[in-house]
Amino acid sequence: MPENVVIIGSGPAAWTAAIYAARANLRPLVFQGDPTNRKNQENGTLPLGQLALTTEVENFPSWPAGDTRAYLKTALDESDWPYWVSADKPQPTHGINGPELMALCRRQAVNAGTRVESKDVVEVDLSRRPFGVTTHDGQAVEAHALVVATGARANYLGLPSEDRYKNRGVSACAVCDGALPRFRNQPIVTVGGGDSAVEEASYLTKFGSKVHLLVRRDALRASKVMQDRARGNPKIEILWHTEVDEVLGDEKKGVTGVRVKNNKSGEKAELPAAGLFLAIGHTPNTGFLGGQVELHPTGYIRWTTLGRTYTSVEGVFAAGDVADDYYKQAVSAAGTGCMAALDAERYLGHHGIV
Ligand code: NDP
Repeated sequence: MPENVVIIGSGPAAWTAAIYAARANLRPLVFQGDPTNRKNQENGTLPLGQLALTTEVENFPSWPAGDTRAYLKTALDESDWPYWVSADKPQPTHGINGPELMALCRRQAVNAGTRVESKDVVEVDLSRRPFGVTTHDGQAVEAHALVVATGARANYLGLPSEDRYKNRGVSACAVCDGALPRFRNQPIVTVGGGDSAVEEASYLTKFGSKVHLLVRRDALRASKVMQDRARGNPKIEILWHTEVDEVLGDEKKGVTGVRVKNNKSGEKAELPAAGLFLAIGHTPNTGFLGGQVELHPTGYIRWTTLGRTYTSVEGVFAAGDVADDYYKQAVSAAGTGCMAALDAERYLGHHGIV
């Protein structure tokens, strides 16, 4: 029997779509990704999405600061936890953090009747009805409607030396890795000029002795308030017109420094550093679509109708960061997840499937 709706993804868009689809009695099936896949671990595409890589989420409505442990313990099964984040220490200023928020969303979706599979979707066939969906272990599923909510992953520079030291000093997630002992009181290099780069650089000053922020132009793209934060932090040194030439290190220690290049003068210099953090934007996770859904030139899925989550393929809906290169917020992703489920429900009804 074909599924009514298959939802691919694991962030706020996917779980919100699942909550709505389940409450509409569509018995949605969510493919949340394979937690044991090394590529997912490297790319940050593990179950629960990018929010699993963040700490406090202070801008998702309904979670003001307060000690939420008691509620979390009653709302979640212990099996819901990727790790127990705020279990035993009283945290009166704690509202909610990323993994907690996503675990709650997933639990709510499951409580409403969502089925969840920890598999990566590697291929879809959108040329036939119902659609074909194939997972990494060869499972083939048919679906009358699809919600694509696979989010986006952090970009890397693509240097061989960067690849060599991934997880040994090279990271694209300061919040995940910044507190590691290897960075304590050591100089750190970050790359990028957007809000993420400034946020990551500021965060890393909690641990490192100094943070060099490499910016390839003569200006930051980050918002004014974030720029002021970077400029006002005595531990951050901004190096303009500067790019990474090579990541330096050795087998034993991992990263020991970064050779940088001024892209105007061509001058090179070596900065001692225990780590290199990239914050140079994101790439939407659309590879498995095999070119069957129209994308923007930037790689994000194109919504074809204003105010709808329709894609270029009727019956395929897109939600969250995979189709949003502009807002990229948890709450806006949740909003479009809701819209995608409602669009899918109406599509199924219109075609007499449910
Ligand atoms: P952005 O796309 O805004 O910025 C990417 C930055 O990386 C740019 O400065 C870009 O340089 C630089 N860059 C890209 N490729 C390279 C490269 N190969 N070498 C060196 N530098 C490179 O991405 P962000 O992740 O920073 O932000 C994404 C969205 O999320 C934005 O809308 C942002 O406002 C939002 N955001 C908001 C936050 C907040 O408000 N607290 C926190 C984090 C993100 P160039 O400028 O030259 O193109």
